[in-house]
Amino acid sequence: MKTFNLVSLGCAKNLVDSELMTGSLLSAGWQMKEDPAEADVLIVNTCGFIQPAVEEAIDEILSLAEYKAEDARRKLVVTGCMVQRYQQKLMEELPEVDLWVGTEGPDRLAMYIEQMIAGAPEVLHLPDRRLMSVEMERALSHPYFSSWLKITEGCDNRCSYCMIPSIRGKLRSREINDLVKEAKLLEEKGVKELNLIAQDLTAYGNDLSTDVNLPILLEKLIDTTSIDWIRLLYLYPNRIDRRLIEIMKGSRRIVPYLDIPFQHVSDAVLKRMNRNYTEKELYSLVDRLRMDIPDLALRTTFLLGFPGETKQDVEAVERFIRDVQFDHLGVFPYANEEGCPSESYSDQIDEEEKLIRVDRILSLQKEISKKKLQRFVGTTQDVLVEGVSAETDLLLQGRTKYQAPEIDGLVYINEGMVNPGEIIEVEITEAHIYDLVGNVKEQKQID
Ligand code: SF4
Repeated sequence: MKTFNLVSLGCAKNLVDSELMTGSLLSAGWQMKEDPAEADVLIVNTCGFIQPAVEEAIDEILSLAEYKAEDARRKLVVTGCMVQRYQQKLMEELPEVDLWVGTEGPDRLAMYIEQMIAGAPEVLHLPDRRLMSVEMERALSHPYFSSWLKITEGCDNRCSYCMIPSIRGKLRSREINDLVKEAKLLEEKGVKELNLIAQDLTAYGNDLSTDVNLPILLEKLIDTTSIDWIRLLYLYPNRIDRRLIEIMKGSRRIVPYLDIPFQHVSDAVLKRMNRNYTEKELYSLVDRLRMDIPDLALRTTFLLGFPGETKQDVEAVERFIRDVQFDHLGVFPYANEEGCPSESYSDQIDEEEKLIRVDRILSLQKEISKKKLQRFVGTTQDVLVEGVSAETDLLLQGRTKYQAPEIDGLVYINEGMVNPGEIIEVEITEAHIYDLVGNVKEQKQID
């Protein structure tokens, strides 16, 4: 038994854990199989912070259990947030599963699996809280030129609708030297785009000594690597300080892009969400950012249908979006999660009404995105080539520095002899609702 197949569900932070799991298995001599029918051990790394994610994970487990039915020797292993959240409760409901491992064991997965195969009685492993480090084997799952750098684990914020602190625990920041070492390692592997991720990037270092924070980490990454694009994802609105903006202004290698989940703008709703800022502060934050970084691409997320949300609150979000004109925007219906503080809040909104509110905001953003992208037509943009587009199978696809991987639009490149991982100049000829189209810029022959 030395082959495995791994399905990674959920966010980029969970994907990094899947890469550690893969690293631990490959370095223990296991082989990875794309096809579950060819693997001895089937692994699902789950997400578990809202019900739709839990349902998706259970569907995946049941579909992989069919492969197990074909070959009784085959083992089914489930890891990640859903295991950490529900622990023993799940085991009764899913007897098909041979081994359960919580969020803290990704780099030890090979050990747990080999113990199971050797007949060890433990079927549930919930190791104590730990933190990943560059010493752990990490097998990159992404194209070699773009990768994630997970700088913390857990979260000390207490947003009333969120299960993540109870699943992932308190904030734990990685040491700066450990992160710099990993960034250098990724650069050696050809990474051109380094995406910094955490539950809240701005909280980095709060649990470490005073001279450790996000701006200091960025300075170190700029000084010690030559990675072309450094991107910041998931920042908490009222902790974006002058220092961070100065560093972004000072280096074009920190791309002019920020993903700042606002979640709402109504002061009454923000208060019930336990998000510590106001609509007025959000307006001044956007003004400050746009003044200091005029070409900044701004992404945010809104949660609609929170208990007690009125029609006026939804109108406030609409007005705010019209005023701010975000480059990228995600909208989600509030999920009333068992175990989160807002579960018991009065004035719960019915599911249908939530979806009506979400659609209203999404269609407004569609119009805004379409208009805003027009500004790129006729310009030349640096584009990170990703490869042949899955959509067209003909055209190449890539992204500008204003487009994050997986969540934003793309640039479709008509023609040109370019390779994945190259950052090239593209003349933008068309703009659609979320995507751009262009041609590779003729490189003037330098005599
Ligand atoms: S910042 Fe809030 S929403 Fe995000 S992980 Fe922490 S508690 Fe959850």
